[in-house]
Amino acid sequence: MNDCIFCKIGRGETQTAVVYEDELVIAFDDISPQAPVHTLIVPRAHYEGPGDGLPSDLMSALCAAIPIVAEAKGVAGSGYRVIINVGHDARQSVPHMHIHILGGKAMSHGMVNFAS
Ligand code: AMP
Repeated sequence: MNDCIFCKIGRGETQTAVVYEDELVIAFDDISPQAPVHTLIVPRAHYEGPGDGLPSDLMSALCAAIPIVAEAKGVAGSGYRVIINVGHDARQSVPHMHIHILGGKAMSHGMVNFAS
């Protein structure tokens, strides 16, 4: 999609510090980090989320990038959290499938914070 920011990053059209990339996926640091390490892994092709016909080989490529990114960011040993926000209730703000990798500090036990 022409005006999708993650598509533009995937096409190399915006200046982004790339953490990892291959033919199918690209990883870069989140512009508004929620943890000392906050990196996004996105498919170069545009899919809104896992329910948007994302092919299994692409899902595999995204998952395979997780430990590579964790290693590159120095959190493979200490641990990290992996999050995919899907749709409205999860507050997905960029409608292009992406995996958040968060780490660099100990996190709380809860996995969800519901709006009151
Ligand atoms: P989500 O709320 O799950 O859709 O997450 C979207 C994430 O993309 C947010 O954490 C944003 O800070 C991040 N983001 C938006 N635009 C950019 C950008 N140009 N470069 C890096 N991260 C971005």
